[in-house]
Order: sequence, then structure tokens, then C-alpha cells
Amino acid sequence: MDYRFRDEVFNAKKAAMGEMYNLAKEHLRDGDKLINFASGHPSTEVFQDKLIKRYLNLTMEVAEKDILQYGAHAGYLPLRQTFKKFVNEKGNVVKPEDDLIITYGSVEAIFLTALALVNKGDKVIVEVPSYVNAIKSFQIQGAEVIGVPMQDDGVDLEKLESAMRQGAKLFYTVPNFGNPSGITMSLSKRKEVYELGVRYQVLIVEDDPYGDLRYRNERIPHIKEFDTEGAVAYINSMSKLIAPAMRVGFLVANKEFIKRIIPIKAVSTNGVTSIIQFALWKMFEENDMYAQIQKICDVYSKKLFLMEKSMDKYFPEGVKHSSPDGGMYIWVTLPDGTDIGKLCKESAIQLHIPITPGNGFCVVEPESCTSLRFNFVKESLEDIDYGIQKIGKLMQHYI
Ligand code: PMP
Repeated sequence: MDYRFRDEVFNAKKAAMGEMYNLAKEHLRDGDKLINFASGHPSTEVFQDKLIKRYLNLTMEVAEKDILQYGAHAGYLPLRQTFKKFVNEKGNVVKPEDDLIITYGSVEAIFLTALALVNKGDKVIVEVPSYVNAIKSFQIQGAEVIGVPMQDDGVDLEKLESAMRQGAKLFYTVPNFGNPSGITMSLSKRKEVYELGVRYQVLIVEDDPYGDLRYRNERIPHIKEFDTEGAVAYINSMSKLIAPAMRVGFLVANKEFIKRIIPIKAVSTNGVTSIIQFALWKMFEENDMYAQIQKICDVYSKKLFLMEKSMDKYFPEGVKHSSPDGGMYIWVTLPDGTDIGKLCKESAIQLHIPITPGNGFCVVEPESCTSLRFNFVKESLEDIDYGIQKIGKLMQHYI
């Protein structure tokens, strides 16, 4: 059958993220242990399975039969209100002129935004490196994606402005502990990014799935908190705070924007599962969710501090690593000319330690990317130290 796919679908590059993990698994023999630093997943040990089970059971016990009916396209109203309260506890994110829609994770919020705004050939700006599924979301809609490099305190403003001047429609950013870089955008840059967005009429899409997972230094206000012009769409997710399987996220934006998103949500998925929304609403009403999140931070912060210490101890001179204030990833950069493709393959096949090469996070895959992404939350403290030591030894052959 000749399916005659749309050009964007036909040309879409295949996901390379799981490649090293698959390679490591293929070469695993009896008694070998796989230490997975390549993963994009949170650690199952922080999932509050008993709490989730309690509220799922309770939902079926207490909810009216209506819970089995189609729900509102924008989401279950009490949960929408609960999420507004939840984000506004720490900052003034949702303003009177804004609204909030519940989505299937933050990926759907990104996808809906792309679907609503991007005509074929429109320019969309992302940070480099950036979240792969966001890049793909824009590409599938036919956008011309422009990558702007990151600096230690966030996006390069000069290059961002010059990309905006070319008439871009939106700028996608992850200001808190980005995936994969771990970088946090400084307060002054957040203000300038907002002002540039207003000046050039470029919507700022602020994706914040990691913002509450902070392990050191003070919280920095979201870009959305400066928004008086409806120039920012703010996205958050329950995936890293409760569990990815909930598939619940949300989008906050000016009412006029949300009004246009709701009909798209209606035709794409007809709203998010009512059962899960009801369970989440009850859970948020009856528990201190920020106290639950603090428990995750306690576990993850220990792992971050240990992985950094092990990297300092075992990685050869010339290898640099980021020091994220939160999130799940450390970005490691080796000296120019290092063949990291070969290094990652050897690490997966011989050490059974998959790590993710950095080129996949770039809009245009650079010929010579020497960076790697390490997930620091997934493995035990013992395996983190052991695994980093092994990789450190392997790196010596490459430098
Ligand atoms: N945005 C970023 C920056 C992410 O890293 C991820 C997941 N790893 C997502 C969005 C998607 O998360 P979800 O759809 O599960 O909310």
C-alpha cells in the first residue's frame, strides 16, 4: 500500500533516544547488570503508589455514575481550579485574564499549541539543546525550527532576538533545569525574554515539568509571572510530580488563546479521562502535595550531589559537567574531537551502561557534538558511583 503520508510525517526522523538502552540490553548476558543513565524516566521509587491506589479506588466508590460519562473538553472544572490554586501558591502564574485547560501530559499541551499556531513554513524558535518531542511537534506541523544556543544562564539573547526578527511565531523554552541541559534561565534573562516576546509579538511557550524539583538555590519566578499582555503560555505536568502514567498536564494562557485550543482538544481527544481527573482532584484536595513533592526532592537531591561528586572524582581532566539546581539531568561535555558516538556504543555494549549522546537534542544534528545526557535520578546511589567510575575509566581511552 502506498500510504502517501504527509511530507512531515514521511521525513520525520526516527527516535534515537532508546537506541543505547536497546543496545545495552541486547548485549546483556546472565549475571550482567544494566545501569541506565540514558533514560528519560523518573525513578519508580518516588511514585506514591499507595496514595494513587487509594484515590483511584475512592473515585469508583464515591463518584456518581457521571464519572463514566464524557467530560468537559477543557477538563474537570474542580481540578482546573485546584491546579490554578496549586501553581499560584508559589507565584502569580494564573491571572484573572487567563484560563487553564487539562491535557494529556505536557506533550499534548505543546502539540495543541503547535497545532493552533503553526502554518507550514512558519518559523518556531527552540533552545539548543532542547526537548526532542517539542522539536518534533513543531516539525510535524511543518514549522521551520530555528535553534538558538544556550549559555550557562539560559538562551543567548542576541541570537534569540535575531531569530525573532525573522518573524518567528513562538519561542519554546524550558527555563527550569531543562531537558537535556539542566540549565536554569536567570531572572534577568526571563524578564528580557518576556520583553522580546512582547516587542516582536512572539508567543513564549514556557514548559515547566521540572520547576518544583529544585534541590538548591532560590526559586526564580516563571516568565508567565511577568505576563500582562497574554504573551506567555505556561505548561506543567504531573508526570514528574506524581507519575507519568497519570498522563495529566495543563496549559495556562490568556482566555482568548484557551478558547481557541478547546475546540482542537475536543476533536483530538474529547477531553482527558474523567476517572483520573477526579482522583487527582481528591488527592490534591486532601493532601499537602508540596510536602509529597519535597519527598521526591529529598531522594533526587542526594543522587544529584553524589553523581556530581563521582564525576569530579572519576572523569578525566577536560571533561565538563553542568551543575543543575534541580530536575533529572546532568549535561556532560568532552573535549572537541572526541568520538562520543563510539564512546556511547562501547559504554552500552561492554559496560552495559547506556548514556544518551547529545546530538539528538539539536535541531540540526551537528557533525561534531561532544556532549552527553546523564539521568541522575533513576539508579541507586551505589550504582551511580560504580557506573560513573566505569565510564570515567572508559573516557580515558577517548581523550
Ligand atoms: N517537556 C519536557 C521538557 C520533558 O522533559 C518531558 C518529558 N520528559 C515532557 C515535556 C513530557 O512530559 P509529559 O507529557 O509526560 O508531561
